Amino acid sequence: MNDYFPKSALAIGAHPDDIEFNAGGTLSKWASLGTKIFFGVLTDGSKGSWEQNIDQIDLIRLRKTEQLNSAKLFQAHEVLFLDAIDGELEESRENVKEICKWIREIKPEVVLTHDPWKRYRLHPDHRVAGWLVISAIVAARDHLFYRDLNLAPFRPELLFLFEADEPDHFEDISQSIDIKISALLEHKSQHVSTMDIKANNDLNSEIKKFSDWVKHIALENSDRRYPCESFKKLSHL
Ligand SMILES: [Zn+2]
Repeated sequence: MNDYFPKSALAIGAHPDDIEFNAGGTLSKWASLGTKIFFGVLTDGSKGSWEQNIDQIDLIRLRKTEQLNSAKLFQAHEVLFLDAIDGELEESRENVKEICKWIREIKPEVVLTHDPWKRYRLHPDHRVAGWLVISAIVAARDHLFYRDLNLAPFRPELLFLFEADEPDHFEDISQSIDIKISALLEHKSQHVSTMDIKANNDLNSEIKKFSDWVKHIALENSDRRYPCESFKKLSHL
């Protein structure tokens, strides 16, 4: 399909597990080829549970641990947390500045994030995450933005938008989909609510059902006969 892999990639998701769902196969494949992988997670995941009596401080701590455990499977160089409140991510200058700082410090060849133009999407954090990252890319590349950061401007070469309505780039993940699934399963707090893995049933068969679903989605991502992740690719940033 294509043999491209970047020297470095910064994937930015609204919540713990968004990156794995949308780009886990691509990042795992790239990591195995030598790409230096960075994760950026914008919110604390504090709304991500169906348990009525859950302690949100415990949930935040748990989701951070799960994200770190998952990132290990990608040999991620670093996981950055913005720690915004889940469901309340704002397109503020402070948030743009912080992500601009990440980009100027890491100097990623490729940035990956949510497509903010996706139609009929409900979750506000996914939309806001996309706008924030795009604003931060513009700020990071132009030297008159945030001069007080004392960081040289940096322009990534490519932006990969996941969840796109109109994808134009497909990454073959047939060799890495198993790691994508393992990484998703590290987010144990999301098994019931997001992955439909029911604790009462036989865990192995529940996990098999989830794996089959992930594989099914990956095959549907394109009309190709192998599993893919799809993106809208923007160059000339
Ligand atoms: Zn999310």
